[in-house]
Amino acid sequence: MKTVSIIVPVYNEAEAIAVYFDTINKVENKVPKCHFEYWLIDDGSADNTVGEIKKIQKVKPNVNYVSFSRNFGKEAALYAGLEHATGDFVVVMDVDLQDPPELLPQMISDVYSGQWDCVGTRRTTRSGEPPIRTFFSNLFYKVINKISNTHFVNGARDFRVMNRTMANAVLKITERNRFSKGIFEWVGFKTKYIPYENVERVAGNTSWSFLDLMKYSIEGIVSFSTVPLLIISIIGAISFMLSILMILFIVVRAFLMPRTAINGWPSTISIFLLMGGIQLLSLGVVGRYISSIFLEVKRRPVYIAREVSKQ
Ligand code: UDP
Ligand code: MG
Repeated sequence: MKTVSIIVPVYNEAEAIAVYFDTINKVENKVPKCHFEYWLIDDGSADNTVGEIKKIQKVKPNVNYVSFSRNFGKEAALYAGLEHATGDFVVVMDVDLQDPPELLPQMISDVYSGQWDCVGTRRTTRSGEPPIRTFFSNLFYKVINKISNTHFVNGARDFRVMNRTMANAVLKITERNRFSKGIFEWVGFKTKYIPYENVERVAGNTSWSFLDLMKYSIEGIVSFSTVPLLIISIIGAISFMLSILMILFIVVRAFLMPRTAINGWPSTISIFLLMGGIQLLSLGVVGRYISSIFLEVKRRPVYIAREVSKQ
């Protein structure tokens, strides 16, 4: 008998929890030779999420939870789940049933067989999503795959089953700026992706705004690529060489045609503004990396639990 640990981050999901367990209970019976353990990670919900979890605990003895002292974000919740999960196989999934539970039996059996270390899922459609979001999301994958050594699968979800070895490897990555999509890829291991069509949320609303997703993308790029630093060095080198040429040109011209030297105010201002812009942009990029270092060196915990309940 093997143990499957299911990690579910929940943030203001009081409405979704009961529906989730109605569905997953049916799936549990379809997985042979396995015993399930649940770790719900309440990410500082302001609604009755914890109350709903406690209700489920009364009828399901394999449901455990960790409740955070405040909202630390989904990434921190996944980390907390991995720390608490004891299973031979570890599953990460959302509570809103956007990660189709009916895929689980096949995913678990693929990892169980030893043929794969990890089975992940990939959305092939993004129906129900605003087109602008889809556009930026595709752009993100294009950019990051150009500039990072880690390969990012377009549409990959966090929904996956891992074996114990891989879960331990993910746990070893203790960085604060956690970008799980990248971490799951970075640790390696034999991973298979199952494609599926996008499903809409069963209840509640997504807590990610467009701005959140933007910040998340920048975090991903900073965590998994230093190419932006290389790009600004190259721009710096090119503008340095151009300015040497300009200086030579100006000096020579001043000697040959002394009177023309007074002209050229517009070009001076243009160059001045351009250089100022490039410098500020570069400073911003460098600053973004420094802020990441700043957060890492403080070595604050990834999350703080106010309550852990293991049955
Ligand atoms: N979530 C979380 N902390 C947050 C935001 C979200 O734990 O700060 C959880 C949420 O309860 C859900 C999962 O992460 O189970 C995915 O969130 P959501 O459905 O809002 O994201 P989307 O499916 O739109 O990517
Ligand atoms: Mg969702």
